Amino acid sequence: MNTRTGQLYIVSAPSGAGKSSLLTALRERVDNLVVSVSHTTRQPRPGEQDGVHYHFTPVEMFRQQVAEGNFLEYAQVFDNYYGTSRLSVDALRDAGKDVILEIDWQGAQQVRERAEAVTSIFILPPSIEALNQRLHGRGQDSAETIQRRMRDAQSEMSHYPEYDYLIINDDFDTALADLSCIFRSARLKQAPQCQQHRALFNALVS
Ligand code: 5GP
Repeated sequence: MNTRTGQLYIVSAPSGAGKSSLLTALRERVDNLVVSVSHTTRQPRPGEQDGVHYHFTPVEMFRQQVAEGNFLEYAQVFDNYYGTSRLSVDALRDAGKDVILEIDWQGAQQVRERAEAVTSIFILPPSIEALNQRLHGRGQDSAETIQRRMRDAQSEMSHYPEYDYLIINDDFDTALADLSCIFRSARLKQAPQCQQHRALFNALVS
């Protein structure tokens, strides 16, 4: 029987900081860890699958879910709505999984207000030049589009002081090791250890 309630994490980053690649590699290293699949009203990009990358949801249905209180958090990011289903996060945590919410700063603020305990992590690029290069490297976008992305990224990054941990993604392997460290040490805290090893600790002191 599972005796442990999974822990809740938030990971935020501006576009171009390397968040998705780091989280993919992290899940290969750390067991029992899942990334929550959000709902969004934006259109799928090529290669994105419904139910895997997002639950792609029509605006009317999204609004209805907001009205019914189904979201742990939701926000408008750029021109679309994004939200995290409360039920699915609770079910994963009840099954003993640690859950990462890959959400923006607005959602992070709501989760901090509503969840009893959450660890938040912000991933940053090593310099403005590196961020600029990474945003350029994505394809054939116009200078105007790239400038807008830079402004959006800087606005997202201005919220870094609200987070518990800051990871600078200069060298990928170092950033991944830093990230893994946070998850390992969080699992060694007294509350989760006591939940998982209650019988052992009782036996050791009785
Ligand atoms: P994209 O459309 O590029 O996948 O994501 C755009 C932004 O939306 C990212 O900053 C991402 O962190 C944020 N985002 C994705 N899912 C959620 C969510 O469920 N809630 C909130 N608040 N933001 C989200």
